[in-house]
Amino acid sequence: MRKSHWTSRRFTAAVVGATATAVVLSPAGAGEAFAARACFERSVEPYTSVVDSHLHFRPFGGPAIPFEEMTDYLRKSGVRYANMFGIGQVLPADSDCVYYLDCPGTPVRPRMRNDFANAESLREFRPTDPDLTLSMTFMDLHHPETVPPGIELLDREYPGMFRWAGEVNVVKQALFPNLAEPATSEDIPNWAPFMKVFRERGLPVTFHSDLGNDVEPTKYLHLMEEILAQYPDNKIVWAHMGLSKELSHMDPDEHIRILERLLDQHPNLTVDLSWRVLEDQYFSLPGVRQKYASFLDRHPTRAITGTDFVAARNKDYAVYEQELEVTSRINRALGDEAFRDIALGQNYFRLLGLKAKAPKVCPSGAKPVGKDATYPSPPGQPAGVADED
Ligand SMILES: [Zn+2]
Repeated sequence: MRKSHWTSRRFTAAVVGATATAVVLSPAGAGEAFAARACFERSVEPYTSVVDSHLHFRPFGGPAIPFEEMTDYLRKSGVRYANMFGIGQVLPADSDCVYYLDCPGTPVRPRMRNDFANAESLREFRPTDPDLTLSMTFMDLHHPETVPPGIELLDREYPGMFRWAGEVNVVKQALFPNLAEPATSEDIPNWAPFMKVFRERGLPVTFHSDLGNDVEPTKYLHLMEEILAQYPDNKIVWAHMGLSKELSHMDPDEHIRILERLLDQHPNLTVDLSWRVLEDQYFSLPGVRQKYASFLDRHPTRAITGTDFVAARNKDYAVYEQELEVTSRINRALGDEAFRDIALGQNYFRLLGLKAKAPKVCPSGAKPVGKDATYPSPPGQPAGVADED
């Protein structure tokens, strides 16, 4: 039985900091109210994102931040929608290691345990705020024959609950010392059975696929191109726009050229702006922020945002708050359209097929007025007062 998604969720514009609630009557006084749209006032409201589409509720190893504490972090920081990722590859259950970089030689392998842990948390606590989207992260892309039985198992235990796939690793160089097995060109055609399932269910899939490294900046580009060419009808999200610590100073113009070409060729591709490395290594450099902001303004509907926070117990709220702030700095440089689509969540809602609508950005100089914009209920639930798109 497919469980309808938790409960009706209606968030007012207050969730993103708007304050106006007055219903403005028509000056004709004919009793005809006009529902002036609420809007988001960028000059006074937070620039931090309302959506965290790349959030690992489970760590690589060691204890996790408890679920209720993590959801409290989201509420406190103003994040109202989040993806609930496990982690693509984890340390052995009997290892004391918490972070793979601290224990080279200890193998990391894709496992199902974090997907079960997340599903259990969601089943047990059923939060309505934040609105969480459960994602399956167990897939071993180098052993694709193991994926369909894993999906069947999750379907049996948690029917209808998984609505996203990934983050899964195609190639992640940081994991090489931990004997991770990258996917190869030969593997990609063998993904067809599970990519078909994702396609039919409308599940977006987030791939971590390093673009390259400082010696060979586009060494692995061919893998992403092959995936996009072979699965043009899948909703594919490219984690971190392919960037990584191993690719710390690529020419931004060259990077943006590649992204624009792929976005033009593949209408179902979305880029993911998560991970503070993007800010630290690229956006914060002189002149670079504006290049990326202009790129996003040219393609406002093609990016989603996130922190890439990993909920290991040795972190606390201050770390989450900081990662959200750092990964949101690019938002300040965006035009209003891209700001609404990315920071206020419209692209995320569209990818998931949610009926939720992000509030419009107030025209500069205007005061926010009118009815609260609402995030109406998902399909099958009574709709809230929807703002028009
Ligand atoms: Zn991640």
